Amino acid sequence: CGVFGVVGLADAANFVALGLHALQHRGQEAGGIVCHHPVEGFNSARRFGYVRDNFTKASLMETLPGPLAIGHVRYSTAGSKGAAIRDVQPFFGEFSMGGAAIAHNGNITNADALRKELIERGSIFQSSSDSECIIHLMARSLQRNIPERMEDALRRVEGAFSVVAMTRTKLIGVRDPMGVRPLVLGKVGDGWVLSSETCALDIIGAELVREIAPGEMVVITAEDGVESHFPFRKRPSKFCVFEHVYFSRPDSIIGGQSVYETRRQIGVELARENPVDADLVCAVPDSGTPAAIGYSQESGIPFAMGIIRNQYMGRTFIEPTEQIRNMGVRLKLNVNRALIAGKRVILVDDSVVRGTTSRKIKEMILDAGAAEVHFRIASPPTAWPCFYGVDTPQREKLLAATMSEEEMTQHLQVDSLKFISLDGLYRAVGEATGRDNACPQYCDACFSGDYPVRPADMIAKGFEL
Ligand code: 5GP
Ligand code: SF4
Ligand code: MG
Repeated sequence: CGVFGVVGLADAANFVALGLHALQHRGQEAGGIVCHHPVEGFNSARRFGYVRDNFTKASLMETLPGPLAIGHVRYSTAGSKGAAIRDVQPFFGEFSMGGAAIAHNGNITNADALRKELIERGSIFQSSSDSECIIHLMARSLQRNIPERMEDALRRVEGAFSVVAMTRTKLIGVRDPMGVRPLVLGKVGDGWVLSSETCALDIIGAELVREIAPGEMVVITAEDGVESHFPFRKRPSKFCVFEHVYFSRPDSIIGGQSVYETRRQIGVELARENPVDADLVCAVPDSGTPAAIGYSQESGIPFAMGIIRNQYMGRTFIEPTEQIRNMGVRLKLNVNRALIAGKRVILVDDSVVRGTTSRKIKEMILDAGAAEVHFRIASPPTAWPCFYGVDTPQREKLLAATMSEEEMTQHLQVDSLKFISLDGLYRAVGEATGRDNACPQYCDACFSGDYPVRPADMIAKGFEL
């Protein structure tokens, strides 16, 4: 998901809508905005579909006045299939000291246990979302102000959270102690901005001030600016390495480093680790493009646009049912036949999850007369599900969970299939000596099975580590 918030700018909701539009790649199912105006109080709108189709309409934006607003773009994770508008964030709660709204990116790994406990103690849940726990935990806190209630609530929550929240006067941002999901602070004129990614600062002309640190809470007002503190017990940072590979936009900056440049470097490492003689390097667009460019530069094999993407389709992975996803590949990608015929082609993609994309692409590219197909994948085999906010399927559906590299190569019927190593990936993201196996510098659980937070709810449901 994507989160965004603004304080100190007239008609803040307009800026939030633009920010959410720039974060649309993080969630395409639905979006919501909550705002506050000194006279008109809180208002909100939650809609299915793209931000540009909902939140640019003057009629809707007029109902969202005020200098303070937050928003969320949603992509449903495993727990909550079958979208309902009641699951669309931000969530809102009234407390004795006033209202508050929260927007959450990540996934709470003990949400089922918390929900059960809260319901037994009288909480009335409105949604099926894990994030709603935070509001109910806040309601039960005895603290006297809302930021402190949020701290109380978040100390009970396990897993990944980057939260953007607001009261009548304050914009609040928090990252979980491991900083799994991103969150940055920006400034534009007299206003302050919180955003999942820097690409959404660019769209409103805000400048990047800094990243919110793992475990940090910032409370921001238009008058007094940013106040920061660290309410949680310190833990080693575990930023999601997959943000670098796939999730973030290539024009965003993470840890001072361009995501595009990191992905290009992944391609360079991939070419060093897994060279092959061929005529063309092609990307599975768009997510494989920077790595394909890097592969081409390192190998000296020309890059070409052998697969063309229809720009009017969304991300296929995020389509909820298998059938739509199967169709999706053809709706979204087509082979550039004239270029491919008779050629030995290296295809670079960011990841193989179920193998749906690779299987279809291979068929399409052989149909077009390619002489050989070599897959090169810009991440290690995805063998474990993510429980921290990226929607990977159950373990059985992950190709790499049940097959070795050799078996996958046969299953996909390609001439070769190679993945970047975990160490190669770490080098590409800037860790010169590779992965520190005693205490990995990132979360890489979907590749390693090394979960930095015990996925308590899933273990209770029978998941085996
Ligand atoms: P598959 O078709 O193997 O199930 O999925 C791999 C494709 O899904 C890749 O092309 C990748 O770009 C795309 N993808 C989209 N969203 C996600 C996501 O959340 N996780 C992963 N691992 N891949 C995703
Ligand atoms: Fe990111 Fe994978 Fe960790 Fe999930 S399991 S947070 S996708 S690295
Ligand atoms: Mg892709």
